[in-house]
Amino acid sequence: MATLNQKRNAQIVSSLGGKYSHGNLVTVTFSESDKSTIVREYNISYDTKNVDDFKNMNPDEITLSVLNTNGMADNSDNTQVNRTQINVYTTEGMPHDANGNLLYDKRDSSKLAQTGAHEDLHTSGQKHNSKATLSSPPDNLIGEGAPGLKMTPEQRTESIRLIEQQQPKTR
Ligand SMILES: [Zn+2]
Repeated sequence: MATLNQKRNAQIVSSLGGKYSHGNLVTVTFSESDKSTIVREYNISYDTKNVDDFKNMNPDEITLSVLNTNGMADNSDNTQVNRTQINVYTTEGMPHDANGNLLYDKRDSSKLAQTGAHEDLHTSGQKHNSKATLSSPPDNLIGEGAPGLKMTPEQRTESIRLIEQQQPKTR
């Protein structure tokens, strides 16, 4: 999974990195730390308990809505809670044969990294239905289903603002 993790980070570096609203440049780097709050899970189904989107749904609605979902983030308002889940069974990057066996040797880690980066960016405040996302071109990474790889300056500004607001103050 080291390669997938690196590709996922690289996707965030290139999508979230770039110009933001006032023309300033955002540079993103990743570093490992014991204090890290990022949790990336790869499963064949979901633990829906702590996922904000499901807090007001009944069990049937939840079952239905996870059926074809490639990934999910616990929340999109709290940048200090960063658990995301990728379903390797439904996601496009992990094909399976007619008997349901996952074809690991045919996996497309770029596609998995794209889904992962999309989920990670939800944890940085990005939403499918925000004004910035709805007015973005169709090759946007945050649109429903992660149709593309790009982020707009407006989206970057939203994330930077939220991250700065919520980052623990250090001396
Ligand atoms: Zn999404």
